[in-house]
Amino acid sequence: MSLMDDIRALAGEVKAPFTGLHITQHASHQDRVTIQYPDVRRPMPSRSRWRHVLNRYENGLEKCIGCSLCAGACPANAILVIAAENTEENRRSPGERYAQTYEINMMRCIFCGYCEEACPTQAIQLKDICELAEDSRAATIYTKDMMLVPDPTRP
Ligand code: SF4
Ligand code: SF4
Repeated sequence: MSLMDDIRALAGEVKAPFTGLHITQHASHQDRVTIQYPDVRRPMPSRSRWRHVLNRYENGLEKCIGCSLCAGACPANAILVIAAENTEENRRSPGERYAQTYEINMMRCIFCGYCEEACPTQAIQLKDICELAEDSRAATIYTKDMMLVPDPTRP
């Protein structure tokens, strides 16, 4: 290696920290991109598929009729539906039956959306709510009470 090569290498080493400082200073004057989550949330893409909900009709009846088509379509075998008969005294859905038990094991779910596509009444829907972390395995079994949207006829 010649003397000139040594000088060039030395000059590069001396220049490197100043180059880094220049980049840092330049970046510090740019607009901040930090989002103050969870007070401010970045809009999710319109086709995001995260947390499931069970929808109701405007009159408050549950859209789910307990048909289990979602459970049959689920490739992860994550859905459990146990249906019961509607009666005049206890009518939950417009159909003959309703889901007495509806559970999704979120540890198994792969968010494919097949359950949503299989549902004939658009009862099950994957929303853009991505906060899914839980601190116990039991809490990852979503129950019907956790997923059913509020009754719009009740204040
Ligand atoms: S999103 Fe897919 S994996 Fe998850 S419950 Fe629905 S069908 Fe099953
Ligand atoms: S969510 Fe839809 S597909 Fe699943 S049991 Fe209810 S009505 Fe049937």
